Amino acid sequence: LISEAGLYTASDQIIILSPENVDSVLFNSTAALLVEFYATWCGHCVAFSPTWKSLARDIKEWKPAVDLAAIDCANESNRKVCTNFGITGFPSLKFFPAYSSSESRGLELRGFPRDVRGLRHYIIDKLEMHNEAWPPACPPLETASEEEIDNFFQTNNVKLLALVFESKDSYVGREVTLDLFQYENIAVRRVLDTETSLVSRFGVTDFPSCYLYNSSRHISRLKVLNEARTFYSYALQRLPGVVRTGKPQIPITDLIKNSTLQEWRSFNKTRVYMSDLESALHYSLRVELSGHISISGNDLTALKKYINVLSKHFPGRPSVKSALKTVDSWLQQQKGTEIKYSDFRDVLDNTVQTSDAVLPEGVQWVGCQGSQSHYRGYPCAFWTLFHVLTVQAKEMGIPDPQEVLQAMRGYVSSFFGCRPCATHFESMAQESMDHVTSLSAAVLWLWSRHNRVNNRLAGDLSEDPHFPKIQWPSPELCPSCHGLKKTGEHHWDQEEVLTFLRNYFSSAHILMDYLQ
Ligand code: FAD
Repeated sequence: LISEAGLYTASDQIIILSPENVDSVLFNSTAALLVEFYATWCGHCVAFSPTWKSLARDIKEWKPAVDLAAIDCANESNRKVCTNFGITGFPSLKFFPAYSSSESRGLELRGFPRDVRGLRHYIIDKLEMHNEAWPPACPPLETASEEEIDNFFQTNNVKLLALVFESKDSYVGREVTLDLFQYENIAVRRVLDTETSLVSRFGVTDFPSCYLYNSSRHISRLKVLNEARTFYSYALQRLPGVVRTGKPQIPITDLIKNSTLQEWRSFNKTRVYMSDLESALHYSLRVELSGHISISGNDLTALKKYINVLSKHFPGRPSVKSALKTVDSWLQQQKGTEIKYSDFRDVLDNTVQTSDAVLPEGVQWVGCQGSQSHYRGYPCAFWTLFHVLTVQAKEMGIPDPQEVLQAMRGYVSSFFGCRPCATHFESMAQESMDHVTSLSAAVLWLWSRHNRVNNRLAGDLSEDPHFPKIQWPSPELCPSCHGLKKTGEHHWDQEEVLTFLRNYFSSAHILMDYLQ
């Protein structure tokens, strides 16, 4: 993966440039582009690449207005492109405003900041410098006047206006405007603290602070844990009636009930259900694996580790634990280089199914129900299963901190039916799984990588509109997990996240409703 794509892969949400796509990406594009020209052998580029990747995750919602790209100038086939753009040193950044002509060589950013926040501000400065007609794919970033706000609902087809009151040098308002640009029924504008008439009309006392204004001229302050960009964006994206462009309106339970053929089981969205975990076991062992007529080599090793981890750490009902132990000891006894799935299945369905050892058949999703049958279900329960297992391993204090993660990695790589998922997961594992040296770090590794996947998939076709992909847990679910750096940047308090996960996924906390 790394050698093919230089320092970045497709899952980094960075457009990888080549001689074939460079013109179509950079010229006459509706979005501005910020391009990193780098060389794989350059130490500064390697050191800068995590920042570039974090920036891509951080401004994913800005994509219609500005996108990130990168090109590896050490790759001989790219040399001509880099020479044409006059690149002599690495890393170099060039900004291409929206609708750049094919004559454009881009605007070189000299002495650019090396941190995400600084780069984000730099991008906003460059977007604002656009000197042709304002590109339609970029929201207005200028400050709003009293007159504009008074006439807002006559001239804009939205239901809600969020106003960020702030000082002139604050970037929060513009960042939130871009964060919300892909959402419907809401617009965001910034208002300066010098707009004294508006400030007193809204009763503003803090800068920054965010107020909601609707067409009935009702004013309310947005309640957030901290007055900062991430908290505003997070809260605004989840307001009733606010939906991602192109997605249907927000749930009412009846709607969910009607759009799936199966009976809807009401559930608590903030709890783990054993029914999902047992359903994941059924699906993985009886459906997913059944696609493999015989299992050998690395796949057999992966299966043995997966079952072994389940047999040791699955916090299930005694009969299910006993079934997993039977399957595990049968597998450990198989000393050949290959097994037949039919033999494995025979153990599951015949040897195991005695009164005191049972692997329940069929799937019955509860917390993992989707509003339609193609949403959620197995992948949701598979993530949940492994969060539970990493937490169980931590509670039991097992000797090998990587045992559960490596079992997951092996299973996903050999068997997980969604192959692009497996490729992405493996590239995350290659990047950092080896750095996990404690059981706590294993719990947090899986949590943070799951959030990376959530970030990548937010707004994707596979996202159930009733269960939007968020950076999890939300500030409402775990207020103490969320903090603020001195710079005003959001930060996760990892100690608090760990405490939260250990409780949320603990065996004592799992609900046993709806079990067969
Ligand atoms: P899920 O993301 O499945 O999460 C399930 C539940 O876990 C949530 O409801 C929430 O309660 C909890 N949760 C959410 N985030 C976290 C977190 N950070 N830490 C702990 N708990 C959390 N789909 C793709 O389209 N492309 C991919 O590349 C892709 N890769 C995947 C890789 C793996 C290893 C797996 C297991 C799945 C992958 N999927 C991928 C599927 C995708 O991640 C979701 O599982 C699927 O879209 C269903 O989403 P969901 O809304 O049920 O929530």
